[in-house]
Amino acid sequence: MSSAPNPSKTQNLSGCELANPPPKSNHAQVALSEITRHPRFWFDDGNLVLLAGTVGFKVYRGLLAAQSPVFQDLFASATHAEEEYGGCPVVRLTDSPQDWSQLLDVLLPMTYVRISDSHRCQYEQISALIRLANKYQLESIERQAVECLKTVFTDAFEEWNSPPQDALKLADPQQVVEVVYLARLTNCSSMLPLACYHCALLGEEVLNSLTSDGELNSEDVRRCVGGYRQLCELKTTIPTRLFGHPPSVSCRSPIMCGELLRRLEEKAALVYETPKLLNSVEQWTLSFPLCGMCQEELDERDRARRRELWQKLPEMFGLVDEVKSWA
Ligand SMILES: [Zn+2]
Repeated sequence: MSSAPNPSKTQNLSGCELANPPPKSNHAQVALSEITRHPRFWFDDGNLVLLAGTVGFKVYRGLLAAQSPVFQDLFASATHAEEEYGGCPVVRLTDSPQDWSQLLDVLLPMTYVRISDSHRCQYEQISALIRLANKYQLESIERQAVECLKTVFTDAFEEWNSPPQDALKLADPQQVVEVVYLARLTNCSSMLPLACYHCALLGEEVLNSLTSDGELNSEDVRRCVGGYRQLCELKTTIPTRLFGHPPSVSCRSPIMCGELLRRLEEKAALVYETPKLLNSVEQWTLSFPLCGMCQEELDERDRARRRELWQKLPEMFGLVDEVKSWA
C-alpha cells in the first residue's frame, strides 16, 4: 500500500513521483547506484529509466507515451529531471516492480500476446494490468484484462457451472477480496455477486478484519458478512431439501436406497465447514452408491437448488440495484 500523501513531494494525478525536484520524504529514496536492472526490460538503447522500488526499467519513452496520456504528461516532466542514469532521465514510480514487469509484458511484448488467452495468464498478471491500466488510462488493456477476469467472475450460471479446463484460477482464496476492489475500480458490477460470494466464504472473522486495510470499502464488507450469515442459514436446509426424500418410484432397491438417503441426510448436517453452497454435492456423495434412478433425482434436486441460489446472489449481497443482468 502506498504511503500517505506528502505535500513536499511533486506528484502528478497518477500518483507518480517525479525525480525533479527530489522528493523530501521520510522513507528512504533508493540511490541510483543501487538500481537493479530488470533482466528483460533493460534496453541498452532505451532513452528513459523507470524506477520502481529498486528495480530499473530502461525503456523507449516515445513508444510508451504513445499508449497513454498519463505517460505523456509524466514523461514530458521527466525531460527536466535532475536525476539521470547513464544519460537517461529517471522517473520514479510508486508502483511495485512486479506490477510493472507484468504491464511491460503487454506494452513491450517480446512475442505476440493476447490477453484474452486467459490460460496463459496468471491472476497476478491480470490484476496488475487492470490496476495499472486504470491508473495510466490504457483503455484497451484495461478492457481486455477485465474481460478475462469476467470469464471467471461471470454473471451466467451455465458459464460458471462448466468453466474451461484452462480457466484462470486464483492461487490464494484471499485474492478474491482484491477482485471485489477491481470490480469497483472498473465499474464492472456484473462481477460483484460471485466475487462477494467467494469473499463471504472467507468467513465473518476474516471479513471483519478487512475494514482496516482499505481494499474493501465498509459497505462491501457489510455485504459479504451479511451474505455469509445467509449462507450459513441456508446450509441448515440442505440435509432435508436434498436427502429427506423417499427413493425414486422407479427404484429397484428401495430399502438400500432409503437407507443410503437417510445416512446422506445425517452426513450432510456435518459436511459443510464453510457454506460453499454453490458447489454440487457430487464431491462428497459419490461413496454412497444410490441406484441410477435415485442418483438422477438427487442430481436434479441439487442442480435446482444451486440454480436457485445463483439467482438469489445479487439480492443476498444487496446488489440488486447495481447488477443489471444476471442469468
Ligand atoms: Zn434407488
